[in-house]
Amino acid sequence: MHYRHSFPKIALTLIATLAASFLAAQSHPANYNNEGVAAYKAGNFAEAIRQFEQAYKEAPDSAVVRRNLCNAYQSEANALALNNDFRNAIRYVEAAIDVDPRNPSPVIQLGSYYLRTDNLDAAIDRLEEAIVLKPGDLTAHELLGQAYYQDNDLSSARAQWDYVLEIEPNRPGLNEKYEKAFREESVEYDFNRWKSRHFRISYPPKVPASLRSSVFSILDRAYVDIGRQLGGIYPPPPIHVILYTAEQFSEATQLEGHVGAVYDGKIRAPLTDSEGNWLSNQELERRLTHEYVHVAVRHVAGANIPWWLNEGLAETLSKSLSNNDVRRLREHFNRGGEMSLASLEANQINRLDPSSLRLAYLKSHATVTLLWDRYGRNKMIGLLRALGDGMGYESALQATYRRGYALIERDVTGIYR
Ligand SMILES: [Zn+2]
Repeated sequence: MHYRHSFPKIALTLIATLAASFLAAQSHPANYNNEGVAAYKAGNFAEAIRQFEQAYKEAPDSAVVRRNLCNAYQSEANALALNNDFRNAIRYVEAAIDVDPRNPSPVIQLGSYYLRTDNLDAAIDRLEEAIVLKPGDLTAHELLGQAYYQDNDLSSARAQWDYVLEIEPNRPGLNEKYEKAFREESVEYDFNRWKSRHFRISYPPKVPASLRSSVFSILDRAYVDIGRQLGGIYPPPPIHVILYTAEQFSEATQLEGHVGAVYDGKIRAPLTDSEGNWLSNQELERRLTHEYVHVAVRHVAGANIPWWLNEGLAETLSKSLSNNDVRRLREHFNRGGEMSLASLEANQINRLDPSSLRLAYLKSHATVTLLWDRYGRNKMIGLLRALGDGMGYESALQATYRRGYALIERDVTGIYR
């Protein structure tokens, strides 16, 4: 199962104070600057950058030119980030910091991009630096809290968010995040920690050593196997995994009993069933591998992925369709049951009842299995990359398979009818 978790909105305060006339109007730097301002105002950031860079070359000491060039770099970075191109976005913000190093805004922006790309150490460094430049900046403190949270340092996260909420008690979205972290902290306070090359694992006391080590090897195997199956996708460490008893799992996540595990930026999974018995290795392997697929998929496609594709991949790569599954699919399609892939996209998990949800998973599983078997792994990787580049769902399917939702749906129906 997978949550589409939201990142904090970056309040990008691009104060476009583009002072037009700061030098004698006839001088070259002033001309370049004015041209830059015009291009910036027209939303042509690449051209604005070109002009401001010329102005900067001729008047490197002008604070106005420096700030304008910095703003233009930041705006270009922002446009790239909106397109999920964080690699180039980061390059532009770094350039912004170079020309205007005392300006906290690009430093916060850079921290937020590192956060989005799960580069937590770098995010924490930059956000702390931003707070030194501008003590008390609420966006920087909120993001720093988020970075600590993702790094599973819950008490440090709470300290940052406490500070923000004291000044702005109704900061949008923050109270929910704060309560979630607080709930998790109260369940996980006495958990043990274990660290491997790729994973940081927290687990409750009294977990038998043999179970612990089989969980560790399941995860290490998933990292290698899924990475290879997806053509070399290896997300950077640390990948956080939090293991619970069934009771702790529902207390921390507030999810109902039919949910086997979840990925919300951290893999969370119970080790026991509701009666308190330890789950079998096979069951653990299925659940943990499923969640790990979400980690790998997020690394390629970001958040731009249809629900059915994300869940279908997690199912396909963690287990095969059983005879029972096939029988249920046949029943469904022969009944003419209506549940289109496109509607699964809109119908997020929390809006479906458990039985429709099971069917939604099954249909997603069948669809991805068909795409994988018929067109191969490389097409699937191509599809994920297209989505990662920000392409729309239907266009990405068309570009990859030369067929959209309707045709794919017909193919799946054809198999089971
Ligand atoms: Zn899932």
